[in-house]
Amino acid sequence: MEKRRFTELGLSPEILKAVDKMGFEEASPIQTAVIPLLLAGRDVVGQSATGSGKTAAFAIPAIERINPADKSVQALILCPTRELAVQVAEEVAKLASFKRGVLEVPIYGGQSYERQFRALKAGAQIVIGTPGRVMDLMERGALRLDDLKLVALDEADRMLDMGFRDDIAHILSLVPEQRQLLFFSATMPREIKDLINRFTRDPAWVKIEAQAQNAPQVEQIYFEVDRRSKLEALTRLIDVNDFRYGIIFCSTKVMVDELDEHLHARGYAVDRLHGDISQAQRNRVMEKFRRRGFEFLIATDVAARGLDVDDLEVVFNYDLPNDAEDYTHRIGRTGRAGKSGRAFTFVSGRELYKLQSMVRYAKLNIRRERIPSLDEVEEARTNVFFEKIRATLDAREFKPRDRMIDRLLDQGYASTDICSALIHLLQGGSSAAEPPAKEVESKVARVDSSSYSSSEADEPPPQKKTKYERPARTGNETGMVTLFFNVGRKQLITPADIVGKIAGVTRLPASVVGAIDLRQRHALVDVAAEHAPLIMQKLGGIRVKGQALEVKIATGEE
Ligand code: ADP
Ligand code: MG
Repeated sequence: MEKRRFTELGLSPEILKAVDKMGFEEASPIQTAVIPLLLAGRDVVGQSATGSGKTAAFAIPAIERINPADKSVQALILCPTRELAVQVAEEVAKLASFKRGVLEVPIYGGQSYERQFRALKAGAQIVIGTPGRVMDLMERGALRLDDLKLVALDEADRMLDMGFRDDIAHILSLVPEQRQLLFFSATMPREIKDLINRFTRDPAWVKIEAQAQNAPQVEQIYFEVDRRSKLEALTRLIDVNDFRYGIIFCSTKVMVDELDEHLHARGYAVDRLHGDISQAQRNRVMEKFRRRGFEFLIATDVAARGLDVDDLEVVFNYDLPNDAEDYTHRIGRTGRAGKSGRAFTFVSGRELYKLQSMVRYAKLNIRRERIPSLDEVEEARTNVFFEKIRATLDAREFKPRDRMIDRLLDQGYASTDICSALIHLLQGGSSAAEPPAKEVESKVARVDSSSYSSSEADEPPPQKKTKYERPARTGNETGMVTLFFNVGRKQLITPADIVGKIAGVTRLPASVVGAIDLRQRHALVDVAAEHAPLIMQKLGGIRVKGQALEVKIATGEE
């Protein structure tokens, strides 16, 4: 794709200075192709991908065409949304910053007419506006287009999607005959072609094909989720895929904080990044994330801009990004360096339409899937367990236990039954040889006898693993000690409850908690030794599911 230096495009010294100051080193392909055509007075239809620099491609020639001595409106740029109008106006202001006497004004609904009238009276020559408000001001006689030299339609496809077709046709039918007309669009549907045929004169068509690097190797999937079910959906997807390293994007700071708290409480190792967090703290978080000190970074777009991390397994769009550009930025953080990554996007309610228009606009290759069911989560966990066993076998990372096994075999047990029993024990099942329930109960009952009021008769069935349960990841790592908790399945406690309590009460990261062995009436919890005293002190006595908690160093007899 051809690119040239700005100095080769026939631009004024003021523009060259501005472009240089903005840090543009060379013109992008669409700029290289379009700018000379526009300077030569041609009508142009430009088509290129999001982020390819279309704004400067039409803004630079528009600025060059302005006669600073003339205080009437000479260029009109139509944009689909107020945000885009503001954005384009900012870019125009930067590009025109060395042009004396050239003024621009954004015009959009929701802003007071007064300000817009004033700017127009002050002699703004470049108007950047949404079609609705532009029509409105034309009809009020505040916006006169008699001296217009150039009209640009930015994101023409999106304007049509938003129902501005008639407004656009109306505006174009009212502008002077002798003006230059430019259409910019990422896609070229028939309706736009109709407008082009009707209003342009012998336009030059410039189409820049998206470069390969614009399409990262990312598997993109979206899920339709109820707003209230997003958290559940997120944790299931993390668990089913066994993700360990990713970013979760939210649209607001408040959402980031909330999600941070919820995931913390569910035992995920997370941290957050947003604009209200001090720069020093942000740097710490980033540094820790890069060395994988936690699993998931929860962030807003702004905070994550320019963020440089490799090897992410997944990017979650917990909230739908504002536009295709943000979407592309977000998902570009996974699947770097030729690796395949995944991008999961949640849409709820009417967001589906927004996503569909993004898909069309940016030609996204995204498919729909449904949120895994609890059974599927369960099965995935089993698979992880299976893989662990296999890896241990392959690596021969175990001591032979032939004597014990031979003894069992000698007594007539089948090898498959022996393995099944072991797996049952490993997955937290209780053994018949464990001390009878009553005995354990009396041992603990000294702490709080009232909490064991229920009789043996209504013993609940072994609890189905609950949704938020995180598979135990650590064995007995060094630097860990095992703590005894006087709550277990009987109280319908899950490992996630325990991790959540520890993280929630002590504000320590969930990662200080290792393996959790959940028994009928107690739990054995590995924690980082250095934090054990704090955990015992802070958690002792607090109530969990109605029960006063006792936490102590496990004696090994439990
Ligand atoms: P598009 O409208 O095609 O989606 P934009 O005009 O919004 O793209 O440009 C995307 C980003 O690239 C903007 O931040 C813009 O300032 C920047 N940009 C534009 N032209 C260049 C260039 N020649 N060199 C470097 N950055 C550029
Ligand atoms: Mg644009």
